[in-house]
This record gives sequence, C-alpha cells and structure tokens, in this order.
Amino acid sequence: MKEMYDLIVVGGGPGGAIAAKNAAELGLDVLLIEKRQEIGDPVRCAEGVSKISLSDHIEPDPRWICADLTGSRIYSPDGTMIEMSEEMSGGEVGYVLERKIFDRALVDQCAKAGAEVRVKTRATGLIMEKGVVCGIYAMHLGEEYKIRSKIVIGADGMESKVGRWAGIDTSLKPSDMETCVQYLVTDIDIDPNFCDFYLGNEIAPAGYLWVFPKGENMANIGVGILGSKSGDKRAIDYINKFIEDVYPDGRIIEMVYGGVPVRGPIEKTVSDGLILVGDAARQSDPITGGGIINAMEAGKIAAEVTADAIKRGDYTTNTLNEYETLWRSTIGKEIEYSLVVKETFVKFTDKDLNHLAQSLSNVNFYSLSLKDLLYALFKANKKLLWDLRGLF
Ligand code: FAD
Repeated sequence: MKEMYDLIVVGGGPGGAIAAKNAAELGLDVLLIEKRQEIGDPVRCAEGVSKISLSDHIEPDPRWICADLTGSRIYSPDGTMIEMSEEMSGGEVGYVLERKIFDRALVDQCAKAGAEVRVKTRATGLIMEKGVVCGIYAMHLGEEYKIRSKIVIGADGMESKVGRWAGIDTSLKPSDMETCVQYLVTDIDIDPNFCDFYLGNEIAPAGYLWVFPKGENMANIGVGILGSKSGDKRAIDYINKFIEDVYPDGRIIEMVYGGVPVRGPIEKTVSDGLILVGDAARQSDPITGGGIINAMEAGKIAAEVTADAIKRGDYTTNTLNEYETLWRSTIGKEIEYSLVVKETFVKFTDKDLNHLAQSLSNVNFYSLSLKDLLYALFKANKKLLWDLRGLF
C-alpha cells in the first residue's frame, strides 16, 4: 500500500470530499480516508441546503434531492406565521437532500477526479516532526500503520480530534453547541414544498424546531436547543411533545442525535502542515446550525491553498495562513454576523418573538433562508436594529 501522498484528507463528509476533489483536480496526489464503512451513513443532518450555493460544487441530481422547496414559514410562539414564497425569494430557494446518497456522490466525484479513497480507515494520530504535521497514523481492520503527506486536511466533523492533536483549541462549552434530536416521520400530512420553523422557549429554548419535507408524506422533524439552556428538559422531550401534539399518528422510522457547533469562528484553523475545514473548524452557521455549504466552500479554499503551498514547497503556516485569510473574508464574515444576531436571539422571551413576528407584515423578503428572515425580524424592530447597528 502506498505510504506517501501530497495531501491526506481525514473525513469523507462534504468538507473533506470537496477538498479532496478540488486538490486532485489541481494535480495533487490525494488520499481521502473515512472511518465509516459507508460514506454518509448514519446521517446526522436535517439535510436542508440553499440551491444556488450547492450548484457551485456539484451538479444537482434528482437521485439525492428529496424536496425542491418553493418557500419557508416561521411560526412564533403565539402561532403568528411569516411566509416567504419563491416569488419573494429572488431565486434563492432550497433543497432537502438525501444525504446518504449526496455524500456518496461527492466522494464519487473526488474518486473520479483521481483521489484515492480508503473507507473503514480511521486516523488515530498525527505524525509530527519538530512541531510540523507530516502525515497520520491510520487504523484499518485492526491494523495500525503510518501514511505520510506534505499536508493534512482535518475534515473530521463535529467531534474532530485532528485539530486537538496538532494543539489547536477546538473545544466547545455547552453554550457553544446546539443539542439536536431529529426523527424521520412518515405517514403524515405535510406540505411537501415548504420548510417550517417553530420558535419559542416552550418549543426550543434558544434554538428552533424544524419540519423539512422529504417527499409527499414524510419529513425530518427535529429540534436544536442551546446546551446551556436545556435545564431539566432534554431536546428529546421537546421533540416528543411536538410530535404528540402535531403529528400524533406519525410513524418514526429513523432517529438522529447530534451536536452542532454555534460558537462562531475559532482563533486558528491552520498549523504547520495542517488545515481544518467544516465542522472540525467550527464553521457552521451560529443561527441556523447549517454547515454543509460552509464546509464545502472551506474545502475548496483549503484545496487551492494546499496546491499553492505544494507548488512553493512551503507547508508551514507562512503559506497556509492564506487559508485563514480567504475563508475569514468570505464565509467567516457571514459566520461573524450570525454570531452577533444569535447572541441577541438567545435572550429573547416569547413575548419578544411574538412582537417581532407581528411587526413583519410589511417586510419585503429577498431570500428564503432562516438567517435572512431573522435579519428582517431585527430590521423591523427599532430597538433591535440599534443593538445590532454594526451589522446592517
Ligand atoms: P461531517 O459531515 O461531519 O463529516 C466528517 C466525516 O469525518 C464523517 O464522515 C466522519 O465519519 C469522519 N471522521 C471523523 N473522525 C474521523 C477519523 N478519525 N478518521 C477518519 N474519518 C473520520 N447542516 C446544513 O447545512 N443543513 C441542515 O439542515 C443541517 N441539519 C443538521 C441537523 C442535525 C441534527 C445535525 C447534527 C447537523 C446538521 N447540519 C446541517 C450540520 C451538518 O450536518 C454539518 O455542518 C456538515 O455535515 C459538516 O460537514 P463536514 O464535512 O465538516 O463534517
């Protein structure tokens, strides 16, 4: 088995797959390793993405699109509904994916671009020489071995260890994380064209509850609550109550538990010989918890910076810091904005949420994303606008 590559990517999620694909297309000798035996399974995601951003990375394919949405609705605690339809959206609408197939399609792309893929292969540590990362220790079918590379990309998700092994602080406090539980519920009456979001402290303290359609009579129904606000009740208590009240006859056929980092950018995402992308770099959106697109964007930037570093023969932070600059000035800006909004949002009472929802009757929406809707909520409220004046 080959023991030396230009680049090793740890993790076959969207961030790792896009990094490996772009690096292979740029002519690098790439290895992607994934600890699971099947790419994308088990899924830990509500599977919602924006259409426009997605098509920058992969051609849409009906095999992994479960729902092609025409709008979304937000319900405040008193039931006030804000609807954003396709006409108001300026074209930016979303898909609900089938991630098991989607993640595999991404890795298929990267294999076809020339990257080697090894599944059921877990990174167990980093090879470090004089503080520089120059490969990994990997475990496959009980056997541990070394694989060397000029650069390693850590795309190992929420529970990332790669960053920590290199001395990068990726730790999360309970207030930095949404705890999520989701069911795939079938045999229910839903609108297959709309995503629904429910807000309120009785429904999802400092978070939200979602119903994302997956076809005619099936939906991902989940809840995310801020770790520090959970109190006596767990995320599962909130979702069970909602299902009992709203879809008492629904049948649960899958269940997902997971955490989403909502802490905003960490201090550093590179070290000598190493780049972190996606959830491993805590690049998910602090308001929505969405991280698929950001992971893909970061993966592409990481591949370009890696190719450049290899061309120059310099794998130190001197060159890799370009990655920091590029992602922080693009997706990082959005993450920073969202963090400020999120920090205000988590302090809202149900009364505030109702008031804000009612104040939106005359607002013109330009996008269907939850984030843009929340921005609109803030803009419609003078005091909030003042609190958040730096953002607009
Ligand atoms: P992952 O997709 O987590 O991929 C990391 C990969 O690394 C995994 O395949 C893992 O097996 C592998 N790995 C880990 N350790 C090792 C190791 N040591 N060696 C080898 N391989 C390893 N985002 C959205 O955009 N939209 C949503 O609707 C949405 N809903 C969500 C709902 C829930 C309940 C949760 C928990 C998350 C949700 N997210 C959503 C977030 C989204 O799933 C992540 O942001 C996204 O998957 C991040 O991609 P990634 O490539 O960084 O990491």
